[in-house]
Amino acid sequence: MNKEAIRAYKRAWRQANKEKVKAQRKAWREANKEHIKAYGKTYRKTNKKKIKASKKLYCITHKEEIKSSGKIYQKANPEKVKLWNKTWRQGHPGRAKESEKTWRKAHPEQTREHQRTRRALKHTTEIEPIKEKKVYLRDGWICQHCKMRVGNKLKHPHPMSASLDHIIPLSKGGSHTYSNVQLAHLACNVSKNVSVLPQGEQIRLF
Ligand SMILES: [Zn+2]
Repeated sequence: MNKEAIRAYKRAWRQANKEKVKAQRKAWREANKEHIKAYGKTYRKTNKKKIKASKKLYCITHKEEIKSSGKIYQKANPEKVKLWNKTWRQGHPGRAKESEKTWRKAHPEQTREHQRTRRALKHTTEIEPIKEKKVYLRDGWICQHCKMRVGNKLKHPHPMSASLDHIIPLSKGGSHTYSNVQLAHLACNVSKNVSVLPQGEQIRLF
């Protein structure tokens, strides 16, 4: 028998004995764990570029899967992710700033709430996280100053767009809680702040 014939014969045998081959391979792997490990190490060392390229390709072709598995991990390991993010930001200050900017642009509502909470912290002790939409729905999309409708399609900073108004201003010790906030047109909110607050004490809440 020549080499070709032997090869063909072996192939045919493997085809006919798939289960057997599988079991054999498994047994071999079990018996050669250390050997396989060492081989993998050497392979990774000598094929760094190849591995990097294939990883990159995998990332591109499995974007959604990676994203969702990352989210699951983030939920299960919040402290770890927080620490990791902090370390990354310290090591990449420029890129961190850029990505924060992009995030703020994509999440204007959360950004405004974050800024409000930060301002509120300076003046008041009572704070609860507030969702703008919840307040707007509660107030029936009616401006609590002029009692006119607020268009929910108008976007900040349109003067007739919705804004969160503190009934007792934060600077006067008002709290950042649902009971102390109401819906107001941005323009109504601004003009109230200008007239109510003493000079130089005006704080922007939108
Ligand atoms: Zn109004």
